[in-house]
Amino acid sequence: MSIKYVYSENLIAESNKNPAVQNRASMVHSLIKSYGLLSHMDILIPKICKLSDLRNFHSEDYLKFLKKCSDAHGDESELDNSESEDFGLGYDCPTWGGIINYATTIAGATITACDELCRGSADIVINWNGGWHHAHRDKAGGYCYVNDIVLGILELRTKFDRIIYIDLDVHHGDGVEEAFETTKRVFTLSFHQCEPGFFPGTGKSENCGLATGKGYAANFPYKSGISGARFFNYFKKTISLIMDTYKPQVCVIQCGGDALAGDPLGNSNLYPKDLIECIKFVMEFKLPLVLLGGGGYNFVNTSRYWTEITAAVCNKELDDDIPDENEFFLDYGPDYTIQIQKSRREDLNSDEYMEECVKSIQENIKKYNVMSV
Ligand SMILES: [Zn+2]
Repeated sequence: MSIKYVYSENLIAESNKNPAVQNRASMVHSLIKSYGLLSHMDILIPKICKLSDLRNFHSEDYLKFLKKCSDAHGDESELDNSESEDFGLGYDCPTWGGIINYATTIAGATITACDELCRGSADIVINWNGGWHHAHRDKAGGYCYVNDIVLGILELRTKFDRIIYIDLDVHHGDGVEEAFETTKRVFTLSFHQCEPGFFPGTGKSENCGLATGKGYAANFPYKSGISGARFFNYFKKTISLIMDTYKPQVCVIQCGGDALAGDPLGNSNLYPKDLIECIKFVMEFKLPLVLLGGGGYNFVNTSRYWTEITAAVCNKELDDDIPDENEFFLDYGPDYTIQIQKSRREDLNSDEYMEECVKSIQENIKKYNVMSV
């Protein structure tokens, strides 16, 4: 099996600049490297895409403004505040000088990953610097400035007719669902926490696409404290349903690390082994696969999680102790192991509730006659 790992110094340097995940990219890469996993994958050097490639999804107006922010070099006085607000820039998405290079680097990396599957030159491509699912056509949101996932899937569309997108981030994959809500060619499936006041507030189980794409989107909204065994059980049921009816040819999984216990934004009881069980279940379908990152605000846990996924994909066991030839070693204290700390959150989900969510997805699939188009 050919496994490729998207990496370049520029990709890490640009990823590090996102204020919400500053230096996380370096931390993830260091841990993967220190465990010796790079020798089990081929490095895929990402292309930096052109501004015109971003136009395949983003609006001219949004990109123009992003470029203006980029050129202002962080001098906000040159910018119109109300315009910034219109484009979702400021607040949780502050801009910085050169942000346009960040956008073309991040998008370019996921496009490169997807292009590799189109050529048939890899079975699995990993890009932990992609997965920015909240960016909309003309608006940034939730720390996402450019929707690399949508741009990557558009690249996959040049070769494949049926694409499944699976979103494991604790937040709803709103930007991706919205981008493909009217098409049958991309089936979007998001598992996420959904409670009053929880960002972004969309992704109810009745939402299943629009117009000609009706039925070709699914949402599994769970409540806080979701536990591993319960999650895996219903994940499996949902995936089996969609695989059986839709028969996708290629798969993209967003593995946001905020779905883990101990994340400052999420409230789950999930551990890397639970989510890796889900990813391995999808891998059993043997589809060409792109694995992307996303959220994850407890950086040490996110690094542990993505390193463990990388090891699982390479079929390698990891030693429990974090290797000390790692520049972030001290951050993994006090135990310095790959294990993440246990949380004791109460699981507010019941099997009855989870069953209802699967049933709702099943009914939509039936009602809108979802098939292998
Ligand atoms: Zn998230």
